[in-house]
Amino acid sequence: MDFRLTDDQLKIADSARKIAQKFGPEYWMEKDRNREFPEEFWNTIGKARFPGIIIPEKYGGLGKGLSELIIAVEELDENGCGYGGSAHLLLSTICTTAILRHGSEEQKKKYLPKIARGEIKCCLALTEPDAGSNTLNIKTRADKKNDRWIVNGNKIFISDIDQAGLMLLIARTTPQEKIEKKGLGLSLFLVELPDDSIQYHMIPKHGMNYSKTFQVHIQNLQLSKDNLLGEEGKGWYHVLNSLNPERMVIAASAIGIAKLAIKTAVEYSKQRKVFEDPIGSYQGLQFPLANAYAKIEAARILNQKAAWLYDTGAHYREVGATANMAKVVAVDAAIEAVYHAMQIFGGYGYAVQYHVERWWREVNLFRLAPVTQQLALAFIGEHVLGMPPSYRR
Ligand SMILES: Cc1cc2nc3c(=O)[nH]c(=O)nc-3n(C[C@H](O)[C@H](O)[C@H](O)COP(=O)(O)OP(=O)(O)OC[C@H]3O[C@@H](n4cnc5c(N)ncnc54)[C@H](O)[C@@H]3O)c2cc1C
Repeated sequence: MDFRLTDDQLKIADSARKIAQKFGPEYWMEKDRNREFPEEFWNTIGKARFPGIIIPEKYGGLGKGLSELIIAVEELDENGCGYGGSAHLLLSTICTTAILRHGSEEQKKKYLPKIARGEIKCCLALTEPDAGSNTLNIKTRADKKNDRWIVNGNKIFISDIDQAGLMLLIARTTPQEKIEKKGLGLSLFLVELPDDSIQYHMIPKHGMNYSKTFQVHIQNLQLSKDNLLGEEGKGWYHVLNSLNPERMVIAASAIGIAKLAIKTAVEYSKQRKVFEDPIGSYQGLQFPLANAYAKIEAARILNQKAAWLYDTGAHYREVGATANMAKVVAVDAAIEAVYHAMQIFGGYGYAVQYHVERWWREVNLFRLAPVTQQLALAFIGEHVLGMPPSYRR
């Protein structure tokens, strides 16, 4: 087993680190405060073709794998960006993996080069108010009329729809009562934005305000066979292949934010004296941070294994098992790390200008999205341990 990075991986890590150092915590504090899309940052990573790390060179990407993508994500987040470094990359990754695996040659040629250069931003429209974690229960319908579909329904928590030129939409094409198997009857569509049939309203939220999140209403959206991604009725199975990379990118983000918070807290703890010695010498502060750091390193290795399984074409269930485990341990460890980093700052940790409160708001998101910790554990319980399912579809 060789844990050293390859020359290509070192180059990507180096390039990500240099970009992150230009867009440090002050930049993200402003973007978060002003609820502003990080245009300058996005243009810079677009020039470096980071949204195209996993896109083959023949479609304008860097032709690398998920292993390289998670290295870039960790480096961006760890070296000053926090979640800002990867929030938007995450969404292009989901669309990209779906198009790469299930898209026609026309769809690949049309969208991938623009995604790779950051010219098209992406969003994912999966979650619905009445379905939540029970995705198979979604109510958005795409009714077929001749060669076209008419889409009606509501989505919730859709991030970046205000920025995106392309939306990956999941909708029901066959009513639940007419399907033979629970996972069937849903289809994936690529929808170009903006479109007058799609209205949205912002949901004010706890963190990650440089990426806005919306409630979405779709009324009589007209789609043709050119919009269909993959096979009609198999959308659920198609999207599963993209949800595993999503978990890995989130795990990498959690790891990057945790390391950034730890690094910042360690620096502060060496300077800050309340009694005679720097507060960093107190074991009550040092051990929790050291403990969280050890867990973060363990999560990082697990996440690298998940990416390696994906890159080497392992079965999606095997990738799913490792990706869910990596997500669970990385997020738990990151929450622990940022919690203790914030404690080191005392009252200053609560002040916006010290940044750690922003990282705290960021890691909190990962308990809930893209999959909750409980649902990831339910997957492990059922599919890894072979225990009875904790829910019925
Ligand atoms: C900031 C933000 C951005 C988002 N961006 C997007 C996006 O871009 N696109 C998109 O499609 N979605 C997005 N989401 C949605 C996100 O993926 C969902 O919020 C998440 O999957 C959970 O669904 P829910 O909120 O409906 O919770 P629910 O499904 O209502 O769950 C509520 C609670 O019950 C628990 N629970 C439910 N079932 C079980 C069970 N069987 N066993 C144990 N516990 C259970 C859950 O873990 C959770 O704690 C975003 C969410 C947020 C907060």
